[in-house]
Amino acid sequence: YSKDRGRNTYNFYTHQMNHDMNRRLRVEEQLRSALKRKELEVYFQPFVDIRSRKIIGAEALLRWNSDLLGQVTPDEFIPIAEQTGLIVSIGQFVIENAFTAAKKWQLEFNPHFKIAINVSPKQFRENTFVDMLKIQLDIHQINATSVELEITEGVLLSGDPIIDSNLSWINDIGVSISMDDFGTGYSSLSYLRSYPFNTLKVDKSFIHDITVDPGDLELVGAAIAMGHGLNLTVVAEGVETEEQYHLLNALKCDYGQGYLFSKPLPRAAFEELLKTQAKNKRPNKKPLLRR
Ligand code: C2E
Ligand code: MG
Ligand code: MG
Ligand code: MG
Repeated sequence: YSKDRGRNTYNFYTHQMNHDMNRRLRVEEQLRSALKRKELEVYFQPFVDIRSRKIIGAEALLRWNSDLLGQVTPDEFIPIAEQTGLIVSIGQFVIENAFTAAKKWQLEFNPHFKIAINVSPKQFRENTFVDMLKIQLDIHQINATSVELEITEGVLLSGDPIIDSNLSWINDIGVSISMDDFGTGYSSLSYLRSYPFNTLKVDKSFIHDITVDPGDLELVGAAIAMGHGLNLTVVAEGVETEEQYHLLNALKCDYGQGYLFSKPLPRAAFEELLKTQAKNKRPNKKPLLRR
């Protein structure tokens, strides 16, 4: 009996592993030509000032609509892009597109519009990364202070010395560094002490239950207070409801991001959002004009 069961379990695993392996190979194969085939697109999700609910910037989020595989999520293809090194060219594509859009929005809507870009470990370890970033800032005439690079603990884990030098170069040119998914790693606290972060993004898994779980509410409050104590801007990720929003406002969280404000949008749709916000400003000014 146990022998049979053992064999079935074995069959199950090999079957599942084969399936996963095939999928991975197919994704990798398609990803290799995705840029050339123009299947990748940068979407933008706004982050808002919690008090005014005004959009002050956007996070660039990559989308892949593959001819062969359909929509593939970043959680599936980003790790494969990392492992294959494709992330280096894909990452540059994201920066180029994000800077192009951000420049236009800075000129048309808000000179201080912020653009946040996710950078993965392999990308960050490239010794050409900082040079590429400087060149792109220059080409697009983007002010370094309006750019924020989002990194996770994974970037810092390797202990590679190039990471330290890249971080200090980035810091020197005035680009901000944000700790993404704060609270989900093992050593977020010690990294906060050792590296020059400007922003803390509290992971959406902590925000999700703040209205029902007093423990989560306590943790988010503590993260915000600690961030402020360290002079960091605190962003709440994954804000989905008005109730969550009101709690975050009461806790003096600086910025918010989530479906309550908007899901990630293609560039043109995001621009419509900015237009709507600009139009809605006018009614406030009317009483003054009437005098
Ligand atoms: P992230 O940087 O933590 O991005 C936030 C994720 O939360 C995004 O998932 C976003 O769509 C999602 N999100 C936003 N608001 C809400 C909400 O209210 N509720 C919920 N449940 N989710 C929300 P997405 O776009 O699928 O990206 C997943 C991850 O893939 C990102 O997590 C980031 O780590 C990575 N990623 C995405 N684009 C890029 C990129 O251009 N470069 C690199 N290196 N990584 C990227
Ligand atoms: Mg992010
Ligand atoms: Mg995040
Ligand atoms: Mg994440």
